[in-house]
Amino acid sequence: MYIEVKDACKTFTQDGKAFVALDHVSLDIEKGEFICLLGPSGCGKSTLLNALAGFDRLNSGSVKIDDREITEPNIDHITIFQNYGLLPWRNVLKNVELGLESKKVPKDQRREIAEKYLHLVGLTGFEHRYPRQLSGGQQQRVSIARGLAVDPDIIFMDEPFGALDAITRMKLQEDIRRIASEEKKTIIFVTHDIEEAVFLADRIVVMMADPGRIKSIVKVPLGTHRDRTAEDFLYVRDKIFDLFNLKTESYIEYYI
Ligand code: ADP
Ligand code: MG
Repeated sequence: MYIEVKDACKTFTQDGKAFVALDHVSLDIEKGEFICLLGPSGCGKSTLLNALAGFDRLNSGSVKIDDREITEPNIDHITIFQNYGLLPWRNVLKNVELGLESKKVPKDQRREIAEKYLHLVGLTGFEHRYPRQLSGGQQQRVSIARGLAVDPDIIFMDEPFGALDAITRMKLQEDIRRIASEEKKTIIFVTHDIEEAVFLADRIVVMMADPGRIKSIVKVPLGTHRDRTAEDFLYVRDKIFDLFNLKTESYIEYYI
């Protein structure tokens, strides 16, 4: 298996009280899958993502990618956060070139690659603007272009569209789905929005809080082109919604 999480446990202690953020979480992910981690605030989504990305260590259990234990961030994996993470003193082009500089890609090639990915996210013509001259949605597009430009194997995204208005969010969801299928990347995407997860994911990892755990894993039986208003889409969305009302504590592999 490409990504293997085995019995991941993580406890945070605050004011002398222990809080179990991950309670024996196990998960297998195949190369090229689009996985959404879905659940209410505090269920351990970011904790799990941070362990996968190598930002934080587990108390016990393991995270392996391509058979290698993850103990620190990996240059072939990139993370896109809600707050874009752009450098305000660099223009759009220079922001996208950032990762290519650290990979020592020559200057003319950097420009060519950056232009390609800016085109992919619909920002051709914005190269010389600065982040403050862009909307939130445009800033997140720059951040996505910057991430893709280094040709990562895996993209981790932690509620990347959380700060955007609903219409911009829908546009970016469409873009990231198109990019995911064109570029064939493995994507692990954190969200608390059921519709977003159903629109994006091949499989949805449904998580619950206190202790943070996986409730079920849902394979989304929808094709590449998804229509939020179609009957099959609404059916899947309602099934996931029901999962959050389930009383049973057992782990189930849930196929619709
Ligand atoms: P989510 O991303 O699903 O909202 P998190 O993974 O951020 O949840 O957090 C899971 C739980 O662990 C929450 O209750 C949170 O308060 C707690 N937690 C996360 N990070 C820390 C930390 N650095 N120190 C103390 N508690 C933390
Ligand atoms: Mg979070």
